[in-house]
Amino acid sequence: MTSRVDVARLRREGELFMQELSREYYEAHSGLKASAELQPVYEKYRDVLGSDALAVAREFFDSSAEGSEERRSARLLLDWQVESQSSRELAPIDEREIAWEADAVVTTADGRRVPFQRVAIEQANSTDRTERASLEKARSALVLRELAPMRRERFQRERDITESLGLAADYNTTWELLSGVSLTGLRDECAAFLRDTQAMWDDVLPPALKRVLGIRPDEATRADALALFRAREFDQYFPASEMEPSILRQVREMGLDPLANGRVRLDTGERAGKRSRAFCAPVRVPEEVYLVLRPHGGQTDWNTFLHELGHALHFAYMRPDLPMEFRWMGDNSVTEGYAMLFDHLMQDAGWLQRYTGVDKQATPAFLRSAGLEELHFLRRYCAKLIYETHLYGGDVSWESLPDLYVQLLSDATGFRYNPADAFVDVDTRYYAARYLRAWQLQALLTETLVARYDVDWWRNPRAGPWIAQALFGEAQRELAHEQAERVAKKPMDFAPLVRSVERMLG
Ligand SMILES: [Zn+2]
Repeated sequence: MTSRVDVARLRREGELFMQELSREYYEAHSGLKASAELQPVYEKYRDVLGSDALAVAREFFDSSAEGSEERRSARLLLDWQVESQSSRELAPIDEREIAWEADAVVTTADGRRVPFQRVAIEQANSTDRTERASLEKARSALVLRELAPMRRERFQRERDITESLGLAADYNTTWELLSGVSLTGLRDECAAFLRDTQAMWDDVLPPALKRVLGIRPDEATRADALALFRAREFDQYFPASEMEPSILRQVREMGLDPLANGRVRLDTGERAGKRSRAFCAPVRVPEEVYLVLRPHGGQTDWNTFLHELGHALHFAYMRPDLPMEFRWMGDNSVTEGYAMLFDHLMQDAGWLQRYTGVDKQATPAFLRSAGLEELHFLRRYCAKLIYETHLYGGDVSWESLPDLYVQLLSDATGFRYNPADAFVDVDTRYYAARYLRAWQLQALLTETLVARYDVDWWRNPRAGPWIAQALFGEAQRELAHEQAERVAKKPMDFAPLVRSVERMLG
């Protein structure tokens, strides 16, 4: 491959690169092969991932007219190229980190040894506060000594690499330029959401801590939060055997083929090496999308399946004639919004009673618990985004970040956070912003569906075809807020989420 790189070649080979990479991940994570062999794929497509490709994308961006369809494409291609420059340079750090996480073992003061990746699960499952705290002490000491320095170096280098490209003044403005999303606008909305829901949170958290964990608010830590939201009391209503048939039946009832005429392939078989959590792998978009799962049952399992099904249906119903950048790239707030549109069905009383074991009598308690969890996660993500704008923004020294992290996250959630996690509990490239916007989009889409197709839109046979055509079909050509304006005729904000949390908390 020695021919010149141009935009047509970026698209053509870029799509093949995405397909091969995605197939590697699918086969490795579903247990079809022992490990993902990514290096040969990167090597094969190095011409469309290197500095020449970046220059082509940059030229395309600079020469396109602002507000044009070409600019829309160029922005996505440039964003992809910028990301691949830093991923390539950061690959050795990322590989070191993945290897560390796989091998690390936490040893508690009384000599108990727990694999690092199991600690959060053990803490969530433990009913003994002292045990949770002892695991936390050992975990945070190990993280502070070994993982945090790696992560800190990673974020510093990512910021330096991105800023050295000179696309905008600094990391944050570069992200805004490439994403088309206002970070300062979202950060201000998050601050307002935290203020607006503070009184509600102060009302509901203390009684939940007392009832579920038997602890006072002033002693609650993040390890206790894991145990509080484990919510295993409801698992009996979500049997493993009912999950797939029940959810697929619902999608059919709303007039949508859940397998998209064979384009969605369900991989449900037991296989050694298969990940335990459901995931979606789009290998060819829209023709070949895998939805991989190993049904265990329980609330979390159903939630994850719904979420991944939302992603899978989005990929499988994308219009095939759209250019690759709209099918493979774009504002992930959109696909996360559809995933959340599906997983938030678990907050709908009518849906729960029709498709799960939650009956009329159990519904109020289930929804109160779901509302508490929703408000906690929203407040946590708002605080995370505010913190991350400082981490990437450079206005706070790296040494002062741990204190700021603890203050912001503890104040928002009511659980005491650990300074050791200041560089660990961070989403790369502002994925927290994608989730927050997805949450807003989901809430607005749900309200729109209720207005168009009634409160039980999820079984209205006219709703599915509209979702497939007006939402999924557009792939990720639009930014989430553009889509909100088009279909809901409203700007995205936190208001519908506040309404929905208030409703659940009753
Ligand atoms: Zn997702």
